[in-house]
Amino acid sequence: MNVLLIEDERKLSEALTHILKQEKYVVDAVYDGESGYEYGLSDRYDVIILDVMLPKLNGFEVLKRLREEKVTTPVLVLTARSDVSDRVKGLDMGADDYLAKPFSTPELLARIRALLRRKTNVLNENVRTFGDLEYNVSAYELRCRDKKVKVMLKESELLIYLLERPSFVVTKDELIIKLWGYDSDAEYNNIEVYVSFLRRKLEYLASSVKIVTVRGVGYKLEA
Ligand code: CA
Repeated sequence: MNVLLIEDERKLSEALTHILKQEKYVVDAVYDGESGYEYGLSDRYDVIILDVMLPKLNGFEVLKRLREEKVTTPVLVLTARSDVSDRVKGLDMGADDYLAKPFSTPELLARIRALLRRKTNVLNENVRTFGDLEYNVSAYELRCRDKKVKVMLKESELLIYLLERPSFVVTKDELIIKLWGYDSDAEYNNIEVYVSFLRRKLEYLASSVKIVTVRGVGYKLEA
């Protein structure tokens, strides 16, 4: 498994590289946003670990540009601040997960494993349909008639979970566990962000499928 580490604090970068190599990952470490963007473009990484505060190009900008270039590699954003606006900003730009500094090594490793596992699981699935929607899981492509749109990893997991339970109410707690795991500090707010992303895409596709809010409980998919 190949990891791209974009982190300008040399000591932290060296420590992380050492730990990741011990876990048998192949690590490329770069120290500024521009190099991170160029390496990330190669699309040969299984996970990108991306710091936010970086010289030349900040992490958000790196992420935005990679997603614009259709690089779908899972990205774990390292943020110095754990405030919601920063997290939402990262997720909005296509991050798959975030980790607030300082973090523990086991937590970082668990997050990386989760991203890799989901990536592999997701790649083994096929095409799902519901109402006028057709979702190609391996291509991360959602279609409705002649329109199509790309979805990101976390959106994809949320969508698959809903597609597997059409017309059933799915709770927010269930979604948090599914998308981030039992031990995460993810909040309802994170789920709401992804639901709003998916709704925007359904609107763009002019699909008759809707993610309906069930007050105080969660969501359900209706055609
Ligand atoms: Ca930094």
